[in-house]
This record gives sequence, structure tokens and C-alpha cells, in this order.
Amino acid sequence: MLKYVAGAKPCKKLPTTERKSTNDYEKTRKRDFQGKWLNIYPWLKYENNVMYCSVCRVQSMKTKQHESLAFVKGTYNFKLESVKQHDDSIVHKRYIDIGEAKSQPSCKSKAAEALRTLHESQHNSLAIKFRTAHALAKTHMSFRTFSTICVLDEA
Ligand SMILES: [Zn+2]
Repeated sequence: MLKYVAGAKPCKKLPTTERKSTNDYEKTRKRDFQGKWLNIYPWLKYENNVMYCSVCRVQSMKTKQHESLAFVKGTYNFKLESVKQHDDSIVHKRYIDIGEAKSQPSCKSKAAEALRTLHESQHNSLAIKFRTAHALAKTHMSFRTFSTICVLDEA
């Protein structure tokens, strides 16, 4: 580009020790919790100078799983990117689904609705399959025999 502009010269670069790299800026940058994140992410809570996910914290306490996650324990890593990553995480999405399913009355759940739409013969057939699967599990038998036993049940 400079060769096309008459009289233009490249600027003098500072020695690398005097230049502040992006990494240096990120290391020394002081981050604060942004209150506007609460409007974007309704599950996000901020208490005692840490932010956490209210949904994951409750579900984690119930299941005794994922208790060491940053958004369960609470984190002061106030980066929007970390909030976004948590929002997209598999654990968070699963806990959101569990929370929504438990907040609905059981008669309005998707499973209850599916059961209502089944015909009586389908319902009985499904009940037999569940009993077979239960019996296999209780007797520690291989699940490979499940389809064979189901064929025998239909006969
Ligand atoms: Zn979460």
C-alpha cells in the first residue's frame, strides 16, 4: 500500500517490550458484573460478588452432580463469553429441560399427553414391553434378548 502513495514511509515500530499486547491488556483488565446480563439471561444470579446459574445450582443440589461447575459454585469470571458458553452448555440445557418438565403438572407433561393418545391395545403392548425390560434388568440378563422375548410375547 505504501508504494502507491508518494512520500509515504512505514511507521517506526516500538520495541516489543514497550508494546502492550492484547494478552497483556486482557490479563490486567478489571472486569465487573454487568447488570444488563440479568435481563438477557433470566437464570443468571449475582450475589456476594459472584454470579451463578440458579437453575443449575438447584438441579445440581438435587442430583448431587456437577457441583464443581463454576456456574454452580459461583464464579467471579465476569466475562460475557463465559456466560454465553454456560448458556450453550449441555449440562445447562439439560437442567433447564428438567426444571421446565418439573414445573408442569404431571397431567400436562409430554409423557402424559402421549399416553392419552395411545389406544388401549398399544398401551397394553407397551406395558408388556416395559415389564419385559424391567424383568431383564432385575435378573441381570442381557438386553440383547429383549427383541426375541418381545416377538414371543406377540405370538
Ligand atoms: Zn445453568
